[in-house]
Amino acid sequence: MRIETLAVHAGHQIDPATGAVASPIYLSTTFEREADGSYPHGYNYTRSDNPNRQALEDCLSALEGGSAAAAFASGSAATMSIFQSLAPGDHVLAPNDAYYGTAHLLKNTFARWGLQITFVDMSDLQAVQQAVQANTKLLWLETPSNPLLKISDIARLAELAHQVGALCACDNTWAPIAQRPFDLGADLIVHSTTKYLGGHSDVLGGVVVTRQDNEFFQRIRQVQQTGGAVPSPFDCWLVLRGVRTLPLRLRAHTENALKLATFLSQHPIVAAVHYPGLQSHPGYEVASQQMSLFGGMLSFQVQGGREPAFAVAARVKLFTRATSLGAVESLLEHRASIEGPTSQTPQNLLRVSVGLEHADDLIEDLAQALAPLVQG
Ligand SMILES: *Cc1c(COP(=O)(O)O)cnc(C)c1O
Repeated sequence: MRIETLAVHAGHQIDPATGAVASPIYLSTTFEREADGSYPHGYNYTRSDNPNRQALEDCLSALEGGSAAAAFASGSAATMSIFQSLAPGDHVLAPNDAYYGTAHLLKNTFARWGLQITFVDMSDLQAVQQAVQANTKLLWLETPSNPLLKISDIARLAELAHQVGALCACDNTWAPIAQRPFDLGADLIVHSTTKYLGGHSDVLGGVVVTRQDNEFFQRIRQVQQTGGAVPSPFDCWLVLRGVRTLPLRLRAHTENALKLATFLSQHPIVAAVHYPGLQSHPGYEVASQQMSLFGGMLSFQVQGGREPAFAVAARVKLFTRATSLGAVESLLEHRASIEGPTSQTPQNLLRVSVGLEHADDLIEDLAQALAPLVQG
């Protein structure tokens, strides 16, 4: 089945008890045992499993073309479960522009628990090759990256990982549907379902999908079921509902983003636009090969530094000044200030999550926010 069909149907069934087309939400924390001690429906306690979580995991596994999935209470909990499934002394190779929270977890939590970590420019294959060690057990990819939308070559990097017996995990939060990491050789896919999969800024969640249901994935399952950072049944229900429109939404996000990126790249006071769908983007070639859509995220730099960038953010009316991404409404944020004092992000950079409004309205809003800078 094609992706649009999977998005609508995978994980869904008509409720056998009532015929309900939209599935019920199973709030029950516990499930009845038969007289012989067995659990005929497969559920015993909701931390271990729940019908809504099962449905979501079935859907996301099918959507990514994997063999199993583990849903978590946040993208960060999903990310953590992979690091928690490694052992002290294992070496992790991660991008030097990894999602801020992911880098923070590696540096501040997992380094103390004995993981060896090297941060490297994942868009530079030679640099990655040099950073690989005999004890490298995990290559962590995030493409397009945050906030410069750098592109790393999933197929080549997965190959590099496999040469030393390491796993290749791909955080696919920024480009669901648009890129298919398992087809390119990745072993694990992570999503913050808070973003495009949920799609409406109203639910926090995460998932790990695995290409093979192997011993490593069983460790992740243990972290999920025993560690207990699991999503509520309602959260699972909301993400599952969001996924039904994901392929259509992502197409529309991409269309709008390309229009906005084109407008910005022609604007006199915009110093740089970072969008992989622009031919001027350094990752355009690789992106064209591994992405079927360029996605709805972009960032741009305003001439003159932090102050004019802040002023543009202050003047937008239709965009909401907020962090996060992937929802129907457009968001704009001054990324360096949310990342704090140790941020490497340029001070004149604004990150945009392009929503589903009409592109012309979005362009008009940015045009009026930028206009005072043109006059000086
Ligand atoms: C938001 C995000 C995360 C973290 O997800 P949460 O659901 O906020 O915990 C991880 N990776 C990327 C790329 C993200 O954008």
